[in-house]
Amino acid sequence: MMLHLRIKLKKKHPVCSELSNVLSTPILLQIRKIVFDKFNETNLRFTNDEIFEILKTQDIAKSLTIDDMKPFFDKLHQDRFLRPIAQNFTTQWFKLFGEVEKINCYSCNNEIHVGKLEERTCPSCKASI
Ligand SMILES: [Zn+2]
Repeated sequence: MMLHLRIKLKKKHPVCSELSNVLSTPILLQIRKIVFDKFNETNLRFTNDEIFEILKTQDIAKSLTIDDMKPFFDKLHQDRFLRPIAQNFTTQWFKLFGEVEKINCYSCNNEIHVGKLEERTCPSCKASI
């Protein structure tokens, strides 16, 4: 009986827990790029829906739903890239912590997008920048 219950609980949110444990780096890098391209102003508000609309036109995000996005935004908040300012049902509004800069990482040679208040490490390879 106990065992049965435990298995049931484990299977409840498989996609959700998988995502929060191992966030896809390419998707995080894409969100950073979209914010840099479209919303790079510290007094601008933008939503998870606006970013998701752009993101889902790309191959890497085809299987994602808006509900899968939360861990990615949580991670970007933790990194001091953006911060949530309001929420209405599934729509979240964000603002930037600081202006986003486009940098070429010397270690991995990727074009990366880093906020002014973030730690100076590459979001792709973790090298100092
Ligand atoms: Zn790098």
